[in-house]
Amino acid sequence: MQQLLSLFHPDQISIRHETRIAYSRDASRIHGECLAVVWPETIEDMIRLIGWAAETGNDLVPRGAGTGLCGGATPQNSVVIDSARLRQIGSIDIPANKIVVEAGVPLDLLNRHLKPFELFFPVIPGSHRSATIGGMIATNAAGLHAVRYGRIDEWVAEATLIDGKGIIHHLSAGDRGGIAGWEGITGMIVQAALHLTEIPQQRSLTLLCFDDLKGMLEEVAHLKANPSLSALEYINPQAAALVGWAAKHTLLAEFHSMDGKVEATIDMAAIWRARESLSARLTLAGFPISEDPQILPEAQESTLDWLAIQGIPVFGHLGVGIIHPRFLQGDPRILELYHRVSASGGQISGEHGMGLKKRQWASLAMKVKAQALKTQFDPQGVFNRGKLC
Ligand SMILES: Cc1cc2nc3c(=O)[nH]c(=O)nc-3n(C[C@H](O)[C@H](O)[C@H](O)COP(=O)(O)OP(=O)(O)OC[C@H]3O[C@@H](n4cnc5c(N)ncnc54)[C@H](O)[C@@H]3O)c2cc1C
Repeated sequence: MQQLLSLFHPDQISIRHETRIAYSRDASRIHGECLAVVWPETIEDMIRLIGWAAETGNDLVPRGAGTGLCGGATPQNSVVIDSARLRQIGSIDIPANKIVVEAGVPLDLLNRHLKPFELFFPVIPGSHRSATIGGMIATNAAGLHAVRYGRIDEWVAEATLIDGKGIIHHLSAGDRGGIAGWEGITGMIVQAALHLTEIPQQRSLTLLCFDDLKGMLEEVAHLKANPSLSALEYINPQAAALVGWAAKHTLLAEFHSMDGKVEATIDMAAIWRARESLSARLTLAGFPISEDPQILPEAQESTLDWLAIQGIPVFGHLGVGIIHPRFLQGDPRILELYHRVSASGGQISGEHGMGLKKRQWASLAMKVKAQALKTQFDPQGVFNRGKLC
């Protein structure tokens, strides 16, 4: 560590016990061993750090806000690279609706910056207050408005990656296979050019409650046919009761039109606040573990029915089939859920990534692709060792 300490200004590196404990896990609650934390400020800092890791055989773990829920940013005897000082926001290219930002920029900070220009970045995970653009790209984040805006990879025009050999890549829309969704195993994303979109002129929403799951899923299909639909969230009876709503299957549908019943900004904000409070409320209620399967439409009724019968609280982005059943740590029904999802052709992870938590569940195709990317970008295994491959 002495050699590493000598490479950085003392305020850019820490090996203090408290720091190492604080960086020993992400929001997944999976703990690991952090050897040191480095806060790079420039590309030269990154290249020096990668050179040291390659020479000494150390593992580097990129970290944004640490809101990841699968241990992707959990170190395993690793040096954590915190992107918190990569926070430059470039000027907006108004004619092209584009902006260049550094990887450590938190999403809400970016959207506050864009608001006066009546623009926004529309990929909005539930963790939008702190999740960083780098972490979102690395996990190919989806989120609350995925039904309209899709995943982040559709919004990245170009990204700059420094790989495990210290080589800088400017990956364009066509060749960013080494970045989006690869959870930091190919290198550190330092910057990205992002497409932006206009803040909608009209917004409204509707809350719909159902006793009957089948009827609710028919309504989902009907709502998805509305071209102004901008969010379609599901809350099951167990979760709805926690926010004081009727204990029924509930849909929150938002529109970029006046098709919804609730139009007052203040009322819409209160409904979204209740929906967004669910994660923390469920943790307090004894369900801290968040899963994120993506269920095919034909399997949604049987899966949601099984979860409700089991008394498992669920919410999520049903418009794109991603749901968040919540469990107590170690609940054996988590494995049962994985088996059910795999057997019905769904994805065990719809948006959080595989990290340490689900790496043994990665498909053979995913492992083969991860290995090929590793060989291309990080043959010495400098970045995020033991994750995905
Ligand atoms: C309450 C809550 C709600 C959530 N809701 C959603 C949701 O709606 N949709 C969704 O997709 N996710 C959601 N998540 C999961 C998580 O917030 C997202 O995955 C988010 O994009 C991670 O961003 P981060 O900056 O916190 O990344 P981190 O947690 O720090 O890292 C995540 C992964 O990305 C890698 N990484 C981080 N930065 C870089 C970088 N600069 N270069 C290379 N690799 C990097 C890490 O090594 C790790 O593998 C939620 C999490 C919480 C706690």
